Amino acid sequence: MAKILIIEDEVSIQKLLTYDLQQAGFEVNSALDGLTGLEMAKQNDYDLILLDLMLPKLDGIEVCRRLRKRNDDVYIIILTARDDEYDKIIGLDTGADDYMTKPFSPREVIARIKAGLRRKMKVSNMIKYKNLSVDLNRHELYINNEPVSLTNKEYDLLLFLLKNKGIVLSRDILLEKLWGFEYDGDTRIVDVHIFKLREKLTKSNITIVTKRGLGYMLEEETNDKN
Ligand code: CA
Repeated sequence: MAKILIIEDEVSIQKLLTYDLQQAGFEVNSALDGLTGLEMAKQNDYDLILLDLMLPKLDGIEVCRRLRKRNDDVYIIILTARDDEYDKIIGLDTGADDYMTKPFSPREVIARIKAGLRRKMKVSNMIKYKNLSVDLNRHELYINNEPVSLTNKEYDLLLFLLKNKGIVLSRDILLEKLWGFEYDGDTRIVDVHIFKLREKLTKSNITIVTKRGLGYMLEEETNDKN
């Protein structure tokens, strides 16, 4: 089920929202100030955030701005205390996806959340694995939500390894799939690309292992590395 974060400092509203969303079957976390909310959003993979604008420590606009700066594509619905055009415009300008004006009914919130989640599923096309995410629409890699620049070949190689994780891939298979021709010469071209890709994945918690005489395999990092 979808995971939702509520960042709202008015305890009564926060509790009510939590209750309503849990009743609707969502997994719910909550924070009472902007800074805590931002940290929680960084450390968890939420599908949607309900974000109040007037918050202690860090206001909602700033929370939104910082999340978008990290290329976090979480769906954000801002909650405004009054029908303030200015707040809405700033919020949407900063990258929020939708807004709601208080007071709102539980049914209204849940309908908006469901619509948001549906829209998000259509738009985003991400592969996520451990602390790594690949945006298939933009051909971009993120490690801990930080962009990492890859060449086209490195990108294709990573994607192929990700789709076949846990499977040993021979140099011949990699050549055929990624270079697209019967290669009768030096397979070191594969080794070179694996080497470069590994360098770019040093901050990730995944490892491309060499299976001597067999090829390469993408696997999860373990403590007992050989
Ligand atoms: Ca508030």
